[in-house]
Amino acid sequence: MVEMDSACRHLAMRAKGWMPDDQGMMLWRTAYNGLDVDDLAVEVGAYCGKSTIYLGDACRQRGARLYSVDHHRGSPEHQKGQPFFDPETYFEPLDVVDTLPSWRANITYAGLEDTVIGVVGDSKIIGDDWAEGSLRLLFIDGGHESAQVKADYDAWMPTLEADGFLLLHDVDPGVGPYEVWKQAHNDGFHEIFAQGSLKVLTRS
Ligand code: SAH
Ligand code: MG
Repeated sequence: MVEMDSACRHLAMRAKGWMPDDQGMMLWRTAYNGLDVDDLAVEVGAYCGKSTIYLGDACRQRGARLYSVDHHRGSPEHQKGQPFFDPETYFEPLDVVDTLPSWRANITYAGLEDTVIGVVGDSKIIGDDWAEGSLRLLFIDGGHESAQVKADYDAWMPTLEADGFLLLHDVDPGVGPYEVWKQAHNDGFHEIFAQGSLKVLTRS
């Protein structure tokens, strides 16, 4: 039976972030079953690399590549004084959140440097520049306010192959990702798997 590398799974479970193991394993299975050699996947919203390790291990086993997009400055709720602020992510000299060192250490510990490519910057700008129809898998878990998650969807959705996989996290009624999940249904996507707030959709 194929499985996630156990050392990677333990690292993923220990990493800071917001991806429970049952949902992480759904990321892993979707990527493992859906990707082939040289396929490309993108993750929008990496934080300290928790979801990155689940997706990255599947990509490594398949010979696919994962581009992990984040400006690493945190979402509004991760800032100093906000509910999800973590002092260990704070870079005092610049008075900013910086999750890149932690993300990078996790990718290195996980042995994923050859599989996972970090792309540091604003997700909308990067998505707008990205080649259309080039991705087999797209995981959106960046900023969760309606305007931000809608901007991510609009920028990135065209980069997905016609029969690619769209994964949305934190799809809970009343929050931004839920509106995008509804929008995706209007755009011809249907859901093939769900684990809590993690939804897997495709158009094929
Ligand atoms: N997937 C992660 C959690 C991501 S949290 C996990 O498994 O734990 C959301 C992330 O989106 C944060 O790291 C934040 O820096 C990033 N983000 C928010 N808005 C962004 C934007 N406009 N461009 C790039 N990254 C953004
Ligand atoms: Mg999330």
